[in-house]
Amino acid sequence: MRFAELSGNEPIVKAMAGMVDSGKVPHAIMLHENNGGGGFSLAMAFLQYLYCSSRSDGDSCGVCPNCNKISKFIHPDIRFAFPVVLSGSSGSTVSPSEAFLGDFRTLALENPRFTEQELYAAFGFEGKKPVISVAEANALLLSLSIYSLEGGYSSVVILFPEKMNLPTANKLLKMLEEPPAKTLFLLITHEPEKLLPTIVSRCQMFRVASPLVSAAATYDDSGMLASLMDALIARDLMAALSVGEELAALPSRESAKGFCRYAAEKLRRVFLYQQGLAQLSEDDAEASGWASSLNPRFSRMTLGILDRTVQRIDRNVNLKILFTDLVNGMYINI
Ligand SMILES: [Zn+2]
Repeated sequence: MRFAELSGNEPIVKAMAGMVDSGKVPHAIMLHENNGGGGFSLAMAFLQYLYCSSRSDGDSCGVCPNCNKISKFIHPDIRFAFPVVLSGSSGSTVSPSEAFLGDFRTLALENPRFTEQELYAAFGFEGKKPVISVAEANALLLSLSIYSLEGGYSSVVILFPEKMNLPTANKLLKMLEEPPAKTLFLLITHEPEKLLPTIVSRCQMFRVASPLVSAAATYDDSGMLASLMDALIARDLMAALSVGEELAALPSRESAKGFCRYAAEKLRRVFLYQQGLAQLSEDDAEASGWASSLNPRFSRMTLGILDRTVQRIDRNVNLKILFTDLVNGMYINI
C-alpha cells in the first residue's frame, strides 16, 4: 500500500516519510487508532516506504520487488504477531501467529481496516479469548537474532499488543530496551491504556485520526446518541426506548452497526475521562460532560453490550428487539 492510497492522516504520513528520509527511524512506533481505524494500513504504507528500492516524491513506487512483497504481506523481513487461541506448549519457539498467517493475509488483502473482532472472526475465534503469548515473544526474539534476510531492517508488526499477558509484555519490554540494530517494532493498538506504561513510553506515539466525524455524519446525523444519553442521564426510560425505536428504523444493518461503533468510540472516551486519561480522549466536550454524569461502571458495561449488539446484528436478529435490549441494558447500568 502506498501513502497515496490512504485517506487522511497527512501529518503522520509527513512525519513518517521524514523519519525515513532523514535516516532517523525510531526502533519502536506505536499507532493508536480507533478499532478498525486504519492504523494497520498506515503501518504497512510506512514499511513499504521504508523498504522501497525506488521511492520518490515522498511515496513508495508500488512496483519494485519490495513493494510487491509488502503489498502481499509476504516480505521475509516483516513479521506479524497478533493474538491467537493457543494450542501448543508455551515453551515452544514456533510463533503461534504463524499458523494463522494465511487467513491473516486473506483478511488484510480484502479489508485492511479490519477491527479486532473481524480479525478473530477470520480465525474462527468467536467467543474465545485470544492472547499474545510468551511463545510469540520467544519466536520473535529468535527471529530477530537472525540478521535480516535481505540486508535491511527487520520489522515486527504487533497487532493489539494489549492482548499480551504480563510475561509476554515483560519480554517485549526487554526487546524495546535493548533493540538489536536495524530492528523496528510497529505496535497497533486501540487500547493503549491497557499496556504497560513502560512499553508506551519507549515508543514513538502517533494518534491515528479518528474516522468518528465521518461516521457520525453517516450513522447519527440526527444526534440519536446524544438524545439517548440525555434520556438515560435523566432516568427517563420511555424517552430512551423511543430513541431505541428510531435506531431500529435505521436503513440497513450496516448503518445499525455503524451507529454501535460510533457509540462505542464515544463511550470509550467517556471511560478514558473517568479514568483521568483525558489526554487520550481527543478533547471531546460531549464525552467529558457525560463522564461527569455517569458512574464509572456504565461505560465499561455498555461497551460490552454494544459489542454483543454488533455480533447479534451480524446474526440477523431483529433490530427492534436488539435496540430495545440495548436501551434496557444501558438503563439498568445507569
Ligand atoms: Zn518500491
